[in-house]
Amino acid sequence: MNTKIIDGNKIANLILEDILKEINFLSDKGVSLKLSAIQVGNDSASSLYVKQQKKICNKAGIEYELVILNNSITEAELLVQINKLNSDNSVTGIILQMPIFNGIDAKKIQASISMEKDVEGVNPLNMGWLVYGRPFLAPCTALAVIEILDSLNMDLCGKEVVVVGHSDIVGKPLSLLLLNKFATVSVCHIATSKAGKLEGHIRRADVLISAVGRPNLIPGNWVKEGAIVIDVGINKVGNKIVGDVEFDVAAKRSSFITPVPGGVGPVTISILLKNILKAAKWKVR
Ligand code: NDP
Repeated sequence: MNTKIIDGNKIANLILEDILKEINFLSDKGVSLKLSAIQVGNDSASSLYVKQQKKICNKAGIEYELVILNNSITEAELLVQINKLNSDNSVTGIILQMPIFNGIDAKKIQASISMEKDVEGVNPLNMGWLVYGRPFLAPCTALAVIEILDSLNMDLCGKEVVVVGHSDIVGKPLSLLLLNKFATVSVCHIATSKAGKLEGHIRRADVLISAVGRPNLIPGNWVKEGAIVIDVGINKVGNKIVGDVEFDVAAKRSSFITPVPGGVGPVTISILLKNILKAAKWKVR
């Protein structure tokens, strides 16, 4: 099989080029964009994501503000912080860094983010619009997977698409976006694995998307010949970062495959900018 490795950085740069044009256009009209991120405590993965956000915002000419709050903050105090950003006219988008460890109901806080500023698509209203097939701001990683499939000019209509992982920010919203494209979607999760049925699902996938976070969960020889493999997983093994799919073997069987790193990750970050731009355009519509 003549496999093509999908270059996530290339796709991300193309998106960025388009976004920059639109941001410059808005800037000429006096509209400036600002992303406000709230981080509770100093979780290392969250701090890494914050750095990436700052870097990409700087590149795109979007103001970036990070509000770091002490781990001792209460739910009520955090809601006050979010409401302050909701009503601040200079703020285009709001991100609540996850995880939050100190017993705060994260879902309640996410639901309090104004849906028009919810650039990570975590507010249930934005999730609801996704169910209606009319997404406004959807979760960035789910959109990134769709962007990658679109870049392959892949018609998903009637295709067997298997999504492994059913989290609220990747697997579930992605399944809805795929359904909206008339794919035949199977969503696998921990119970699928426990029932010994994961292999059977994967073997018939025209498109396999894994978002679990377990290195080599999916042996390469389960991948159907000619399938498209999108590996969302990010796993640290020793000093290497790998995905969920056994890359070397899967790459020999698939028609297209995303590497980890350099696949879904960079596209996700560029989609965040796309969402910020969408929020800005909504504001000035
Ligand atoms: P979660 O931990 O929230 O979700 C993981 C999902 O995998 C759950 O639905 C879980 O099911 C399922 N799962 C766990 N074990 C198995 C198994 N053995 N077989 C089948 N399913 C299983 O993670 P996220 O969705 O937040 O992230 C998933 C991965 O994607 C992580 O590696 C993360 O780092 C990466 N990621 C990458 C991004 C990118 O831009 N490239 C962005 C966001 C995440 P259950 O809940 O039932 O246990």
